[in-house]
Amino acid sequence: MGSPIFEFKRKKILIPQPRSRFLLVICPNCGNSQVIFSHATFPVRCLSCGVQLVKPRGGKAEILGKIERILA
Ligand SMILES: [Zn+2]
Repeated sequence: MGSPIFEFKRKKILIPQPRSRFLLVICPNCGNSQVIFSHATFPVRCLSCGVQLVKPRGGKAEILGKIERILA
């Protein structure tokens, strides 16, 4: 008993969304950097100039600015 396939399946269930992250995004309009959740379900605007940085897309968000860094 104790097959490796079973162990793999258990890990997948424990982490339902392994690709969701916090991203440091640079605003293409004013250069302001701000932290954005990669699976945001609402539009996120730049705190400095108000331009839209994230467009929600059915569970996954489309990042409109430049991704400077991926945070843990
Ligand atoms: Zn801006």
